[in-house]
Amino acid sequence: MNYPDLDINLTEDETAIKDMVQRFGEEVVRPAGIRLDKLADPADVIAADSELWDVHRAYRELGLHKFRLPKSVGGMAGEVSMLSSILIGEGIGYADSGLAISLAVTGSPFAYAAMSDDPELQGWARAYVEDKNAEMIGCWAITEPDHGSDWIMAGEPTSNNPRMAPGVRAIKQGDEYILTGQKSSWVSNGTISTHASLHVSLEPEQGMHGTGICILPLDLPGIRRGPPLDKLGQRALNQGEIFLDEVTIPRKYMIVPDTSQANTIIGENIWAGANTGMSVTFGGVAKSALDEAIKYASERVQGGVPIMEHQNIKLKLMKMFQMVEAARSLSRRTMAYNLNNPPGSLAHAVSAKALSTETAFLVASEAVQIHGGNGLSKEYVIEKIMRDARASMIEDGTNEVLLLRGAAFL
Ligand SMILES: Cc1cc2nc3c(=O)[nH]c(=O)nc-3n(C[C@H](O)[C@H](O)[C@H](O)COP(=O)(O)OP(=O)(O)OC[C@H]3O[C@@H](n4cnc5c(N)ncnc54)[C@H](O)[C@@H]3O)c2cc1C
Repeated sequence: MNYPDLDINLTEDETAIKDMVQRFGEEVVRPAGIRLDKLADPADVIAADSELWDVHRAYRELGLHKFRLPKSVGGMAGEVSMLSSILIGEGIGYADSGLAISLAVTGSPFAYAAMSDDPELQGWARAYVEDKNAEMIGCWAITEPDHGSDWIMAGEPTSNNPRMAPGVRAIKQGDEYILTGQKSSWVSNGTISTHASLHVSLEPEQGMHGTGICILPLDLPGIRRGPPLDKLGQRALNQGEIFLDEVTIPRKYMIVPDTSQANTIIGENIWAGANTGMSVTFGGVAKSALDEAIKYASERVQGGVPIMEHQNIKLKLMKMFQMVEAARSLSRRTMAYNLNNPPGSLAHAVSAKALSTETAFLVASEAVQIHGGNGLSKEYVIEKIMRDARASMIEDGTNEVLLLRGAAFL
C-alpha cells in the first residue's frame, strides 16, 4: 500500500519487531487461517496433525508468548515498549483474527500464576515461558450458558442481584475448594487448553459481586470438555464448553479469593485490559480489509480502467481509510494509556473495542462490495475477513452491553 503507517520514531528494536510480526503474519498466520477456516468440521481444526499447532509453535519459537509475563518467571513484560505491544496486536490481527485471539488468550492462566508467590504456580508460569512445543495452552473461562452479558455488568451496583449469580460454584471446604458447574461453548481454546483462568461464584447471595478467579489445571478428576463449536467467523479459533463435576482444588489455586475485589479486578481491570487488546487486534483487521479493497480496486479493470479510477470507488476507499485510521488512533491511544495506568480507563477501552470491531465489519463489508461478485467467493479472503469481523462485535462482550457498562465511567 502507498499510504504511510504513522509510526513515528520507531526504534531499531521496534522496527525489528514490526518486521518480524509482518513476516510471521504473511508466511504463517494468514495462510494457515485461510486453510483452517475452510475445514468443514471444527474437530479437524484441533486434530493432532492440524496446522493450528504449527502456528502456536511458531509463535512460541519467536518468543511472542513471553511478552506479557514478568521477568521473574522468564518473561519479557516491561522490556517491550508500548508501541511494540501495539505492533504485535495489530500485526497478528491483520493476518488472522481467530488465530490472533487463540494465541493471545493462551497466556491468561499463566499470567495469573506468575502473580502468585507459590512455587507450584510460579513453576507453571515458568514452564509456559519455556514451552516451545505449545504443550501448555491456556484459556479464559468466564461465560456460562445462562450468564453472558451478566459478566460484563459485574461491576455495576445492581449486579449484586442473586439472580445474576454465576452457575459455576466454588464451595470452600477446609483448605480446598469444590468446583461444580459449566462454562459455555464460547470459551476460546476451550477444547485444547491445559489450564484455565476460571471465574467462579464464591458467594451466590451477592450475585456478580460474589465472584472470584482460580487457575485450574484441566486434567483434574471431574473435568469434561464439550465438542468444538461450529460457527460463522473466526473458525480457526477453537471454542468449547468446560464441565466441572465436584472438582477439588487446593486453596492456593484460588488466585482471587476475595469477593470485595469483584468490582475492581473483575468488573473493571479485566474488561479494560481485554477490550484494549481487542481494539488493537481489530484495528489490524480493519486495516487488512481496507488493504484487500485497495489491492483489488487497483487490479480489477472495468470500463477500460482499474475500478480505483471510478469516482465512487475512490470515495468509498477514502472513507474506509478515514474510518480505519480513526479506529486505529483511538485503540493505540487507549493501549498507550491503559498499559501504564492500571486499572486503565474502561470508558476508553470499550469505546475503542466497539469502534475497532464495528469499523472492521463495516470496512470489510464495503470491501466485499468493491470486489463485486468475487467478494462473495471463497477464492478471495475478504468474505472471511467480514465473517471474522462480525464475530468480534459479540466477542468479549456485545458492543451494546460494553458501551452501557462504559457509560458508568462518564
Ligand atoms: C468469537 C468469540 C470469542 C469468545 N471468547 C470467549 C472466551 O475466551 N471466554 C469466554 O468466557 N467467553 C468468550 N466469548 C463469549 C462472549 O463474551 C459472550 O458471547 C458475550 O459476552 C455475550 O454473551 P451471550 O452470548 O451470552 O449473549 P447475551 O448476554 O445472552 O446477550 C444477548 C443479547 O441481549 C443483549 N443484552 C444482554 N444483556 C443486556 C443488558 N443487561 N442490557 C442490554 N442489553 C443486553 C446483548 O447485547 C445481546 O444483543 C466469546 C464470544 C465470541 C463470539
